Amino acid sequence: MTTNLGLSIITLITLFISLTPTLIKSDEGIDVFLPISLNLTVLTDPFSISAASHDFGNITDENPGAVLCPSSTTEVARLLRFANGGFSYNGGSTGPAPTFKVAARGQGHSLRGQASAPGGVVVNMTCLAKAAKPAAVVISADGTYADVAAGTMWVDVLKAAVERGVSPVSWTDYLYLSVGGTLSNAGIGGQTFRHGPQISNVHELDVITGKGEMMTCSPKLNPELFYGVLGGLGQFGIITRARIALDHAPTRVKWSRILYSDFSAFKRDQERLISMTNDLGVDFLEGQLMMSNGFVDTSFFPLSDQTRVASLVNDHRIIYVLEVAKYYDRTTLPIIDQVIDMLTRTLGFAPGFMFVQDVPYYDFLNRVRNEEDKLRSLGLWEVPHPWLNIFVPGSRIIDFHDGVINGLLLNQTSTTGVTLFYPTNRNKWNNRMSTMTPDEDVFYVIGLLQSAGGSQNWQELENLNDKVIQFCENSGIKIKEYLMHYTRKEDWVKHFGPKWDDFLRKKILFDPKRLLSPGQDIFN
Ligand code: FAD
Repeated sequence: MTTNLGLSIITLITLFISLTPTLIKSDEGIDVFLPISLNLTVLTDPFSISAASHDFGNITDENPGAVLCPSSTTEVARLLRFANGGFSYNGGSTGPAPTFKVAARGQGHSLRGQASAPGGVVVNMTCLAKAAKPAAVVISADGTYADVAAGTMWVDVLKAAVERGVSPVSWTDYLYLSVGGTLSNAGIGGQTFRHGPQISNVHELDVITGKGEMMTCSPKLNPELFYGVLGGLGQFGIITRARIALDHAPTRVKWSRILYSDFSAFKRDQERLISMTNDLGVDFLEGQLMMSNGFVDTSFFPLSDQTRVASLVNDHRIIYVLEVAKYYDRTTLPIIDQVIDMLTRTLGFAPGFMFVQDVPYYDFLNRVRNEEDKLRSLGLWEVPHPWLNIFVPGSRIIDFHDGVINGLLLNQTSTTGVTLFYPTNRNKWNNRMSTMTPDEDVFYVIGLLQSAGGSQNWQELENLNDKVIQFCENSGIKIKEYLMHYTRKEDWVKHFGPKWDDFLRKKILFDPKRLLSPGQDIFN
């Protein structure tokens, strides 16, 4: 009885909302009503607005005027055509309507409001993925590719693919990110050295441009849009479907963490291993730092070894962790141990400090989920994350290590979070894509993934990031930031360097009213 009454009230409220035009703020600060005749599934309740105003970074807070929960791609196209101000849906009103901003939002795992649209409309891409027909992930009959609704999380792509014995080849560390969100940046991780970033493993995209045009693009069809959108920070269009390359899925993984006290040996071994990009090499390579002035997480290691690992860190102040994985299945089972032995025999790690886990492929790829669960249980997930991600040219990594790791990080009274440190190969990237990398064959992925909370506020942690950037600038180390957020035009121009003119030209071509992803602060 109470449930029925509750449902009737909700139905009445929904009916009322659907009969009330939605109020949006235009770019000029004018009130714009989304007319009912647009027939859009728009939410304006406080919960939906609040959810769309926050992101993982937990630093910014930007309320949209409304959230679109589309049930079809045509709804998104209709919204964008209306946002361009060129349409009159009220029949007879004269002159172009004012324009307003629109941002696609995947999982909102951005750091600085990149998926926000202050006063405008946030498009919830999860709704579109849920409404996808016949399914959000459709594997081709021959298993060579998957057509994926862009709002789908990578973990769901993985689940659907492994059921068919296939898998995408390039992954991020964390899988609860949307396909459209990572393709708008790059999508990097331990497989990048071998297969390139996720943006190098896409055959085709469906995109709704800033003008509201629905276009299919690929290296052959509308290549300007295709390459522009990959790493394009949501500036040229909203990706609605991506055709992702697949390969045979292994069933199990030998996952190793190998500890070094000597940086030059660590660097030499990492670079040697990423030079082996054929089947004889490792399938995954990353690296991270364990520092005595931070939390030393020994949970990967056997219980009986955790104390000596912690002592090693204390004795040396810093330990470099090489993380590698080799996939296998029934056919390669008989030789897997031999292969691991061959790959690691000549490595210069601290004797007795190589640890191997044998885990299912799915669990390996989804490993960060366990960390998330742990942090959530401690109340440490929804805290500010002033993360700094940079790509450092291989030729300057020793200077970077000496100045930033030894000079800055180890001299802090304490450090928080995880520090990623691993090289990757430039030749696996296509320079026509929008993402920027250093112009060298090998560059390092450095992630200072700090979390605020407790006594430390995020501004204090941000100071360290500023010092890192400043050090690189003063030393002439030509880094490129990843997942960056600049507020000054000159920083964007510098970031894109020789590609800036092309980036701007594509903006004028595909989103001339500059409506899309305003939270990136590139064209505001
Ligand atoms: P959102 O935050 O929702 O959006 C990001 C940007 O893309 C916004 O500008 C948005 O407007 C735009 N956008 C979203 N969807 C679309 C679409 N369909 N079409 C066009 N534009 C769109 N990155 C890596 O590369 N490697 C990692 O290993 C990695 N690990 C991470 C781990 C954690 C715990 C977190 C929080 C982030 C990690 N990231 C990593 C960063 C992540 O790739 C980016 O933050 C990515 O944008 C997140 O996807 P999202 O769906 O949450 O995007």
